[in-house]
Amino acid sequence: MELYNSLIKDSKALLEKGTAKVWDYEPGRCWTDIGSSELVLQKDAAYELGASGRGSANYVLFTSSGELVNKDQVLLYGPDLKDIKGDVDFARIVLLRVGVLDDDDEMVYRTLKDIEFAKYHVYPEGYMVRMSPESYREQVRVSKKALKKGIGFQAIGNSYIKAYKKDVNVLNATVIFVTAPGFDYEQMKGIAKKANDVTNTLTHILEGLPTDCSVCSLKDICDEVEGMKELHFGVGAKGVEKGHSH
Ligand code: SF4
Repeated sequence: MELYNSLIKDSKALLEKGTAKVWDYEPGRCWTDIGSSELVLQKDAAYELGASGRGSANYVLFTSSGELVNKDQVLLYGPDLKDIKGDVDFARIVLLRVGVLDDDDEMVYRTLKDIEFAKYHVYPEGYMVRMSPESYREQVRVSKKALKKGIGFQAIGNSYIKAYKKDVNVLNATVIFVTAPGFDYEQMKGIAKKANDVTNTLTHILEGLPTDCSVCSLKDICDEVEGMKELHFGVGAKGVEKGHSH
């Protein structure tokens, strides 16, 4: 699974201008999960992360490379929740090392989708997440009560890692939060869009799209992303055999 590797490298390069606070994963230090989404009313909120008018980005990248991702860690670039005084820019970037996917191409997409869905199963108390996948943003309303109870990114990150690691294909999960001003949130959104293009192209490939690059609408992304064409030509042959080709 190398399709997202260049995007992981771009993300790391983008974050290089800052210094991260790092916590190793501690499953015993997750934030309270309330099991379903909670409405945090504006009057009960201390502030919003990635509110409209602020920078905001959210994406997940996959790799099988142990060189690129090899730790279960939470990274924070910028102030922690207790130190934030008003609305701030916000990004959550997740890097996942996955196993076994190279063995069976048809499993790739389904597994990636399953893993992506894990993010919907994290419901931290006093931390209301609103995602807008079409704009690659994530907005979070943090309650005053949660701040009094000591909510922080270490615990929130641990909760996400725990959710991702429920999938046996996830070998390592690194969850990166960015709250500092001055990062290129627009470029992060650009990476999020490309990741989405890669995942969508995978869907088409695995659904058995004909392997004729000269007339294919996905050519731009396949020209750019290393490994995509190889994947299609491998899977395409199987698709025809199974009569999946349209
Ligand atoms: S490999 Fe070619 S045919 Fe397949 S999705 Fe990419 S551009 Fe289209």
